[in-house]
Amino acid sequence: MSTHIHLLSGLGDKGPAAIVVETNGKRLLLDAGGALHPGESITWAGGLDVDAMLISHDHIDHIGGVAELPETIPLYCTPLVANALPKHRAWQPLPARGSLMVEGIKVTTGQAGHSLGGVWLHLDVDGGIFYSGDACFESRLFPFDTPPAAHTALLDGSYGNYDQPQENCLQAICQQLEQPLVLPVPETGRALEMALWLSEEADRRQLPFAIDPIIRDNLAALLALPSDLRRPGLDSAISALLKRQSASQPVLRLVSDRNDTPDQWPNYQLLHTGYLTPERQAQLAAGEVRWQRWNVHLRASHLVALADQLRATQVVPLFTPLTGNCLSDWQQRLGQRLCTHRSLEIHPHTAGRSTAHLTV
Ligand SMILES: [Zn+2]
Repeated sequence: MSTHIHLLSGLGDKGPAAIVVETNGKRLLLDAGGALHPGESITWAGGLDVDAMLISHDHIDHIGGVAELPETIPLYCTPLVANALPKHRAWQPLPARGSLMVEGIKVTTGQAGHSLGGVWLHLDVDGGIFYSGDACFESRLFPFDTPPAAHTALLDGSYGNYDQPQENCLQAICQQLEQPLVLPVPETGRALEMALWLSEEADRRQLPFAIDPIIRDNLAALLALPSDLRRPGLDSAISALLKRQSASQPVLRLVSDRNDTPDQWPNYQLLHTGYLTPERQAQLAAGEVRWQRWNVHLRASHLVALADQLRATQVVPLFTPLTGNCLSDWQQRLGQRLCTHRSLEIHPHTAGRSTAHLTV
């Protein structure tokens, strides 16, 4: 029997993640992404029939589509990710790092280095299928676990051919810190490591600093996890930050992103550090906001390093354009391993070789 992978959404652009793996008569959905842009709807979920779904992490483009699917579908996620599910949605626990059987398929999880409670997923079928969800090697807080080998790798290519080290990002942000700044960030992702870094920078410059209470709560949740679920050596810095009061008139403010607009913050400059919606791209072009990336996804050379580590013979870069220059860049980086088809069929007798049959 062969295995089919259907990339329902997330192939060819930065869009909601939704992947169906069909094997041994069972269909598993990996992530159930919602629309990235306020007011947009998703198209992949209509009439979908799956036996179970696994959610990698709690960002809207990975979990926001759960509400569109029948509540009867068994859902697996880590307890921290479950906090973001629709109210009363039943769920079953995925380990932060470990294995379990789902519908007769061995699923292994590990830390993805991207967000609080976030994991990558490895399915033990036909030489292994690895799905990174969103992943990063460079987080100063969240570890990245080395996954088991996998013939097929579905990897976070959100940054396309971008390949700047995080150190460069930090230096660029440093240059903007001398003015009143508001930094809206996803509250379970880079918010936590930015809180630590910004508090150090604020102290160095003697700038009053404030963080959103929800970010503080999430830092406390991170500190409450077993210590091997965060990078070593940071616990005392996290504790100190949790004890500290936010300034009443802060110059630097780290806030949970609630679709903040420049007119909501008249005395501050808005500095975005992640994905920009078209609306925000327009604000950036008009000089109303600023932008400097803080790395939270795999940069191009890290994606290739992960593919090498997995010994993958077919690699799908997700959430990235696959046309024109972008496509030729991926071809150059991944060579024969690059797959750009929406549907992949893996025959057991070819798993482990680079000859898996592709269908459009
Ligand atoms: Zn994410």
